[in-house]
Amino acid sequence: MGEAMEFKLSTRRLDTVSVVDLAGRITAGEALTALRQTIRDEVAKGHNRILLNLKDVSYIDSSGLGELIMALGTVTQTICGKCGATVFKDEDGNWDNCPQCESKERKAWGELKLSNPGRQVTDLLQFTKLYSVFDVHESETDALASFKKSR
Ligand SMILES: [Zn+2]
Repeated sequence: MGEAMEFKLSTRRLDTVSVVDLAGRITAGEALTALRQTIRDEVAKGHNRILLNLKDVSYIDSSGLGELIMALGTVTQTICGKCGATVFKDEDGNWDNCPQCESKERKAWGELKLSNPGRQVTDLLQFTKLYSVFDVHESETDALASFKKSR
């Protein structure tokens, strides 16, 4: 074993899905900044199906996990089911009517899934009880198929 693999990130488009290939260690610093910026860019482009491919990720720490949760929240934020406007909660935590069309329908803006988590990442997700919060798939093929199903 040589030095720990450096963090790397690249994005590819497969059909309607943006696959973000992550590699190395996802820990505080450059990795988190890069991941956050990538998610922002994808969302800005209207790419609402994002797969984080963790195949070559060797290690995620708690701040990396926090960033994954933030990415999930960004992509799956609640919008108006009718017109797509951003909706807000009132003081009691109930959804207000849509500020644009008054609709009460709600939906998630997009979907974010994880694939190919290694041993450490799987253990971390299970230990923190976040495994079920994320839609985790064992392979990229499985993950891509599950995006198709939800179409
Ligand atoms: Zn609306």
